[in-house]
Amino acid sequence: MKQSMSFIPTLREVPADAEIKSHQLLLRAGFIRQNASGVYSYLPLGQRVLQKIEKIIREEMNRAGAIELLMPALQQAELWQESGRWYSYGPELMRLKDRHDRDFALGATHEEVITALVRDEIKTYKRLPLTLYQIQTKFRDEKRPRFGLLRGREFIMKDAYSFHTSQESLDEVYNKMYEAYSNVFRRCGLNFRAVIADSGAMGGKDTHEFMVLSDVGEDTIAYSDTSDYAANIEMAPVITTYEKSDEPLRELEKVHTPEKKSIEEVSSFLNVPREKCIKSLLFKVDEKYVLVLVRGDHEVNDVKVKNLFEASVVELASPEETKQIMQCSVGSLGPIGVNAEVEVVADKAVQAIVNGVCGANEEGYHYIGVNPDRDFAVSQYADLRFIQEGDPSPDGQGTIRFARGIEVGHVFKLGTRYSEAMNATYLDENGRTQTMIMGCYGIGVSRTMAAIAEQFSDENGLVWPVAVAPFHLHLISVNPKNDEQRHLADELYEKLQNDGYEVLYDDRHERPGVKFADSDLIGIPVRITVGKRAGEGIVEMKVRQTGETMEVHVSELNETIQ
Ligand code: ATP
Ligand code: MG
Ligand code: MG
Ligand code: MG
Repeated sequence: MKQSMSFIPTLREVPADAEIKSHQLLLRAGFIRQNASGVYSYLPLGQRVLQKIEKIIREEMNRAGAIELLMPALQQAELWQESGRWYSYGPELMRLKDRHDRDFALGATHEEVITALVRDEIKTYKRLPLTLYQIQTKFRDEKRPRFGLLRGREFIMKDAYSFHTSQESLDEVYNKMYEAYSNVFRRCGLNFRAVIADSGAMGGKDTHEFMVLSDVGEDTIAYSDTSDYAANIEMAPVITTYEKSDEPLRELEKVHTPEKKSIEEVSSFLNVPREKCIKSLLFKVDEKYVLVLVRGDHEVNDVKVKNLFEASVVELASPEETKQIMQCSVGSLGPIGVNAEVEVVADKAVQAIVNGVCGANEEGYHYIGVNPDRDFAVSQYADLRFIQEGDPSPDGQGTIRFARGIEVGHVFKLGTRYSEAMNATYLDENGRTQTMIMGCYGIGVSRTMAAIAEQFSDENGLVWPVAVAPFHLHLISVNPKNDEQRHLADELYEKLQNDGYEVLYDDRHERPGVKFADSDLIGIPVRITVGKRAGEGIVEMKVRQTGETMEVHVSELNETIQ
């Protein structure tokens, strides 16, 4: 690609509203431009990086036996109503109406569409297992779109879904996907870690997130300094210390007050399996506490709780009230005594509900799906706290350390969450109707691009790993007005492309300083400069990552690039 004819608008100044490296550099180097908050155009260089990442993903998905398709972004509300998520997803789901006043959503994810698709087409066990994937634009009206591509409102995701007749089959595909994800992020050059993403999965293997290690990551990873244990503290290890009580453990399943909403009601409302239902929950997000209730209007100690029923999230009026509510709401957790600011984070709260950490609003009003030893003490005066650095690792090996991570991928065993709600069944070998078992697997493609930029840069600009670089070589003619230089550069441009290299050719009539600065900013792995010694057939080669330079005769160029 000739730079004179391309569209690479570089910037010298750091854009004022870009807080982090990747965002600043992707803007400055002309890879992206913002259109609206959380909405971006990918300029030619950005588009090329995306395509490289997508190619790696496609290769790994195909190798793992997944089949590509493409589903609509525009999705009818009925599907989301069937799954129940029309009511539980909250304001992050972008909703709209068509001219006939019918409700639609822009796909935040595609469990509903794919479950309906497979339900309508697959009727027999003989056609299962089946794993389908797509690479597509997703929409989420994030509360705080920020950090450029890291948290967009429109972003590109690879999402895969698998359908099974047995748990073993799901496990098998899940493991394959886990491997494929590791391969993808490794091939992208990333320093990452797969972590447990769910409290229900402590020690289990039901959901993992792939985290790129980075100080700007919004997630905190708790990992053991001696073993493989690693988990997202957002979801995972709620560690409790408590005064041991002589009280016997209560049978949590059996104690609840009949006139209140029953677990069954909550379960059918949320479309969440019974054992995962809870009534209330205390949840910590970004150092703030969120109280989530899963039923209608509440009044606790005369404090009115405004209930966003759809989002299943309760907004609490003031820190004072919060404290009060928390103290009486989390009866089984004991007095928390926090003076926390409360923030409603719908998606995380809903995730948390589905994951079933338990709390209670009143004495004797408890819910199931909890692990008393792990989640809280049953003592009325238990003291709950979240895992901290220095705690013993939950696997018993080593000590907990914290690191920050960017979630670039997430694999999840869904079980029958969607297939049950949406009636996705098949006939087994004995002609009996069975519910399909599902898994889902997502990669943030555009977020991965930003994560790479975050990990690979220096003070002069981006430093792309070869596998995802927009081009392999950056060819620069220092002075195109000089015939010798221009001819040699033109010749090399043709030759190197014929040799299979992707070449960005800076043939612009700009000052050398501008060209070199742009070149460093853009960050193509190898730069070839045609300058003063063009007459002798000698060019300068520079490795972007190390800064190492050498003079090379064009006849030896190919060997040297290797
Ligand atoms: P987060 O915790 O960052 O909000 P998520 O858990 O809501 O992400 P998933 O539903 O697991 O996201 O979606 C799969 C993948 O899509 C994520 O692992 C992430 O890489 C990507 N992703 C999610 N939300 C965004 C976003 N707003 N912008 C860019 N990528 C995103
Ligand atoms: Mg999210
Ligand atoms: Mg997440
Ligand atoms: Mg996730």
